Amino acid sequence: MSETELNNRHKERMAKKKALIDASIASATKQKGLLIVLTGNGKGKSSSAFGMVARALGHGMKVGVAQFIKARTDTGEEAFFSRQPQVDWQVLGDGFTWDTQDRNQDIATAERGWRVAQQMLTDASYHVVVLDELTYLLNYQYLDSDVVLNNLINRPPMQHVIVTGRAASEALCALADTVSEIQDIKHAYRDGIQAQLGIDL
Ligand code: ATP
Ligand code: MG
Repeated sequence: MSETELNNRHKERMAKKKALIDASIASATKQKGLLIVLTGNGKGKSSSAFGMVARALGHGMKVGVAQFIKARTDTGEEAFFSRQPQVDWQVLGDGFTWDTQDRNQDIATAERGWRVAQQMLTDASYHVVVLDELTYLLNYQYLDSDVVLNNLINRPPMQHVIVTGRAASEALCALADTVSEIQDIKHAYRDGIQAQLGIDL
């Protein structure tokens, strides 16, 4: 086939493709606050959520971030985002459950943290709310799943919520509008490489 024929074919195919994409975009007309779940064993859940935080801030939106589980306040994301006037950044954990080794303490911490999240989920001035590592609090039954799901259902209708954490429950995924599962193909940690500044924290 000549170069001209190839170019013409390509042009024709792209025109068809463009028509299909334009029609599909035109038919997506609804607006609503989304519930997004980022789960799976691979790296990239929280950092994806923080990427959306950056997007929202670029549009002048107000963002609430509730970080469950983690106690550390020395992450790059916190240092950067908590400086932004439109961000309410709350570190609500006191370590991983295998660090605390105390179920009652974990439950008390989870409940205290959830009350902070509840305030965000009842305040429409927060355009985006990130509930980072929430799935663990549900999977260990530190929080009542029905209460959490009801709070999510009853949030302001235009508020976007992003939940991260491994092993998101079926009920949470069923409620969500968008669910992504990040697969663990390989991770540098298994080669003995320490968590790296700017990449892992
Ligand atoms: P990130 O914050 O980098 O997007 P994540 O939210 O997907 O990661 P978490 O389970 O919250 O993953 O773990 C956060 C930390 O653990 C990061 O330092 C990350 O690099 C590391 N990590 C994530 N997935 C894995 C994995 N499969 N094996 C080893 N370490 C991991
Ligand atoms: Mg994470």
